[in-house]
Amino acid sequence: MNAAEPPPVQTRSPGAAGGGYPLALWFASTVSLLLAVVIGVLGWVSWHNSQRAVVDLATQLQSRTGEQVEEHLRSYLDAPTRAIDLMAAALHAGVVTPDKPESARRLLLRLVRLYPEIAYFNIGASDRSFIGAGRADTASREVVIEEAHAPDPEVLHQYAVGPGGTRGEHLRDLDFGDFREQAWYAEVPASGRAGWSSVYHWTENPSVVVIGFGRSVETGMPGTRAVVGVDLFLHDIGDYLAGLESSPGSRVFIVEQNGLLIGSSHGGTLRQLPGAGVERLPATQSPDALIRGAALELAGVEGGLRGIDDTLQLPFDAALGRIWLRASRWRDAHGLDWLIVVVAPQKDFTGVIDAGMRDLMLIGVLLLVLSLCAAWLMTRYLARPVQRLELAARALATGDFDAPLPRSWSRELESLAHAFDEMRRRLRAAFREVESVQQELERRVEQRTVELRVANDELERLSLQDGLTGLANRRRFDATLGEEWQRARRSGKPFTLVMCDIDFFKAYNDRYGHARGDEILVRVARVLQAELRRATDLAARYGGEEYALILPDTGAEDARGVVEQIRRGLGALALAHEGSPFGCVTASFGIACHLPHDGMSGVEELLIAADQALYRAKAAGRNALMMHSRPGENTP
Ligand code: GH3
Ligand code: MG
Ligand code: MG
Repeated sequence: MNAAEPPPVQTRSPGAAGGGYPLALWFASTVSLLLAVVIGVLGWVSWHNSQRAVVDLATQLQSRTGEQVEEHLRSYLDAPTRAIDLMAAALHAGVVTPDKPESARRLLLRLVRLYPEIAYFNIGASDRSFIGAGRADTASREVVIEEAHAPDPEVLHQYAVGPGGTRGEHLRDLDFGDFREQAWYAEVPASGRAGWSSVYHWTENPSVVVIGFGRSVETGMPGTRAVVGVDLFLHDIGDYLAGLESSPGSRVFIVEQNGLLIGSSHGGTLRQLPGAGVERLPATQSPDALIRGAALELAGVEGGLRGIDDTLQLPFDAALGRIWLRASRWRDAHGLDWLIVVVAPQKDFTGVIDAGMRDLMLIGVLLLVLSLCAAWLMTRYLARPVQRLELAARALATGDFDAPLPRSWSRELESLAHAFDEMRRRLRAAFREVESVQQELERRVEQRTVELRVANDELERLSLQDGLTGLANRRRFDATLGEEWQRARRSGKPFTLVMCDIDFFKAYNDRYGHARGDEILVRVARVLQAELRRATDLAARYGGEEYALILPDTGAEDARGVVEQIRRGLGALALAHEGSPFGCVTASFGIACHLPHDGMSGVEELLIAADQALYRAKAAGRNALMMHSRPGENTP
């Protein structure tokens, strides 16, 4: 492994994210949860408040509608009072009398113009003379003048209005009956005060339903009593109620104490009978389900409709859901006693709230989508740099210091990237330093190794060398002898061992001193070394003043030649030795040659043989050489 290479690390591939969830999921779920909570709380609070507001709103709206109807009735029913007063005053003053139809026509036509909300004006006298003016019916609303008188009071002559308010052309004659039996006449209070009649049908046109208002008046003609009266179309009250602006599902209707409808905003108040007649409907049979339901609820109140004394709030449940009902009693000074009923389904009010809730949900979903987009964008701009940083960190772990670093718009991420870069720079510097230190260390180790090897070689050399003479020492000699023995056995070639011992050396030491003795040992060694020609030859100091020569591939005769050469070399030195009979330093030599298959068992035997030869040379007088002789051999 390269010295600079950091240790291998356990890396995961970037895809193998392991534990934890992606940033996008964290963002999205946190945002969604927050939004859901916020929208839920907002929705709940606004729904709760709306529910409370619904009650207030329903009550207020119904009260307003009810009061509006009451107000209308007050002004609408006021006109008859004033008209009646005018008519009564005119009769009373004698301006109009039953026998002066011209003046009566003028008065009535003026009143028709003055009070357009009044359908019809009547003057009927006790002598059965009748004059009336007003609308012929509810549909065409054509103004007609109608008269009946003796001698045929049960025929009603109908005329158009002529120019200048005169009686115009005769239109038709109608069956009138006895008008004194009609409600407007018959039900006039005897007290002389004005009062309301019950609701009745016109005799000559039974599809017209009216309510009359009249009073009894003394005419200018003695003995003749007259009734002045006006009729109001119930149809007009219905029209007014239908035109009321209230909530879309609401109903307004007016009902009499007897349960019959006066008018309603929805559905008819009359039922067509076979023939020309019509019949008034009770509210409980209205074609409108809501009105029917409300009427049934009211009928269930304790005491029925009559039991409702003032204003009643009566919410109830129906197929349409919760229904808000307000019933208020309406009375006037002249005996009218009606119930004004306003009904509205709760969803009229909650509809807006429901739409609001739907809008809130829609906004919530929109916000959710928007925030998920925002989460995605944030993740993209946040997670990407983090992933790039992770890649750079992994690259760093594998020794790559140059992986690109991400740029980010986030200050925190940017400073993280900077910090990472700084760390990477320092790591790189540290690695380089470690690298150079390691190289220096290796160089030194190498140098030391070389030095050690040299020292070892020297030691090795010294351990195999004799300190005094520089020749191989006994250790090396023993090793070489063993090796040569083996080699000779393998090669089958002879080799020779020569033992050499300086003669009378003790005497030399004694005479010249030990130091001079050492010098002699060195000089003899040099001669031995000098006379060995072959690199494979070895001269060793065997011990004390004894030497040994190993001569590989050398036979006995060749060895003798070498020894003779040594002896001559030694002689040539002529080292004085007065203690020796020869006068100079000499040496004796024992030569033993090892031949293949000579029966020697090992080096010990060869050594003994060389020693014996040396012994014989000593015994022969010294300064001699002797060959080891095998039995039968005769060698000097
Ligand atoms: P011979 O002729 O029978 O060999 O007689 P020698 O005196 O040489 O033999 P001996 O074995 O009686 O004596 C050997 C002497 O060699 C004894 C010793 O003082 C001497 N000697 C042995 N080693 C050293 C040495 O390293 N230095 C010196 N100066 N003398 C040594
Ligand atoms: Mg000796
Ligand atoms: Mg000796």
